[in-house]
Amino acid sequence: MKHISYTPDANRYTTMQYRQCGKSGLKLPVVSLGLWHNFGFNDNFLTGRQVIHAAFDAGITHFDLANNYGPPYGSAEENFGRILKLDLLPFRDELIISTKAGYDMWPGPYGDGGSRKYLIASCEQSLKRMGLDYVDIFYSHRFDPNTPLEETMGALDYLVRSGKALYAGISNYNPEQTQKASAILENLGTPCLIHQNKYSMLVRTPEEGLLTVLEQKQIGSIVFSPLAQGLLTDRYLKGIPQGSRAAGQSIFLSEQNITPELMDKVQKLNQLAQRRQQTLAQMALAWLLRHKTVTSVLIGASSVEQLKVNIKTIDNLNFTDAELSEIETILK
Ligand code: NDP
Repeated sequence: MKHISYTPDANRYTTMQYRQCGKSGLKLPVVSLGLWHNFGFNDNFLTGRQVIHAAFDAGITHFDLANNYGPPYGSAEENFGRILKLDLLPFRDELIISTKAGYDMWPGPYGDGGSRKYLIASCEQSLKRMGLDYVDIFYSHRFDPNTPLEETMGALDYLVRSGKALYAGISNYNPEQTQKASAILENLGTPCLIHQNKYSMLVRTPEEGLLTVLEQKQIGSIVFSPLAQGLLTDRYLKGIPQGSRAAGQSIFLSEQNITPELMDKVQKLNQLAQRRQQTLAQMALAWLLRHKTVTSVLIGASSVEQLKVNIKTIDNLNFTDAELSEIETILK
């Protein structure tokens, strides 16, 4: 591995904005970085490490993982653990590191779902892979219809009480499940800090009740795939570039997703972004952050350049009514 030594930028807290996560005392940067893609053993470790450095240098304090990020499963946590050890452990108290369990992780009946057995064993494994004593946020990655919600929430409560996690979160829970989960956690004395949900100009499910529940319960909200995995950027405006997620880098986005109808909308959004003197990615992120309920947008980045562009979103988070209605017209 090429030898690089890292000293964080002394001015790292001067430009980033932070928002209070729900009714908790915890603040999160409005832009957070996720390690779902680009950080596995199949990816370039040095690039990943440089992206993490650039993020921390810009005041991004929050890094989001899950047990099965990679590929292979677990490798994003292992790589992140290496980066922590090489560069960031002296700054552990300046970092919010999250991980999750809920989807397929290991063979047999205990490596998937929402059982106490799975969540607690998985958290232990994540801590080992990252070389940490605790994570800041531990999530139930999805609702499990085959496990009593009391059991799943009980496991989160246990992880917080045992000091293996500082806060509890849920992800991909619908509005009703969120209400129930939050009531159980409240009763246990471990409030639900945050909900992680998929939200972008192209995926608007949270507008169908979830945002209202989060606002009522004062639960923080961090939105994932805010750029629709790159569709809401200039990445695919001139075709499908080599090395992009849709060009076979991932099973989660493919050429079939890049339809002429979609690209027509993306071109129009891009023109509006240009008039706002922003990139399309910046406008897509700002559009989410205009909601006060959205604590943070959880982006991915395959290069330092992408990350830097996305961070500059904070330069213009305002929309006129005319711009908002133009966006609605384009998206219709
Ligand atoms: P995004 O929607 O931000 O997509 C990231 C991808 O978009 C990048 O890898 C890159 O694609 C492209 N991109 C980003 N910025 C730019 C730019 N400025 N210009 C051009 N292209 C750009 O988010 P992700 O889908 O990666 O998800 C983010 C995080 O959310 C994950 O890492 C994870 O932490 C979390 N997540 C949580 C889930 C859950 O169930 N809780 C599910 C999914 C994600 P390319 O690689 O082609 O360069």
